Amino acid sequence: MARVKDYGNAELEEKLRDTSYYTDDSNPQFLEDVKKISRTAANMCFQCGTCTGSCPSAPRSSYRIRLFMRKGVLGLEQEALNDPDLWLCTTCYSCTDRCPRDLAPTDVIMAMRNLAFKYDIVPRNFLKTVQLIYNTGHGVPNNDVNRAAREKLGLTRDPATTHSYPEYIPGIQKIMDFYKMKENADRILAEEGQ
Ligand code: SF4
Ligand code: SF4
Repeated sequence: MARVKDYGNAELEEKLRDTSYYTDDSNPQFLEDVKKISRTAANMCFQCGTCTGSCPSAPRSSYRIRLFMRKGVLGLEQEALNDPDLWLCTTCYSCTDRCPRDLAPTDVIMAMRNLAFKYDIVPRNFLKTVQLIYNTGHGVPNNDVNRAAREKLGLTRDPATTHSYPEYIPGIQKIMDFYKMKENADRILAEEGQ
């Protein structure tokens, strides 16, 4: 069932509802960039829809992987990168397993996310997750409720991760610093006063 988008941006939502194709909006280099980063021949997509039919996010949201494949082929860079649905892929790879053209739609989405990051188009909750991973080694750190539940189950209060071995956190930070992930997350959030 199609879901109505409601991202609090009327102008963007109107644009995404408009199914007309404006050649002025097309950037052929976008398809080339997506193909290069994803290492999949996205132009070979023949819009069969098997990917969307396999996607666990589709029944729960307005996200349609087939639509992103089409936008990639048409070079609709700004439409694809500014659509918040870009971030609803769980990277489960079901679509990639089932694509009859042997394409990797998952990797197309990952490529588009990489390109979006270059324009600072990243959902704020993702940036906050970057900060959490940097500081704790976890996107979702343990908390007292979980610790109590773990105890009840006879488990240690913290899992055998960076929660138990914080000495590994600097290694994680070193990798993230190399890619300037935390630096950029801090900058974008600060620019928005968050
Ligand atoms: S399953 Fe493959 S060929 Fe079919 S629409 Fe999706 S990406 Fe395109
Ligand atoms: S990898 Fe992403 S797009 Fe593909 S089926 Fe899973 S959630 Fe859907």
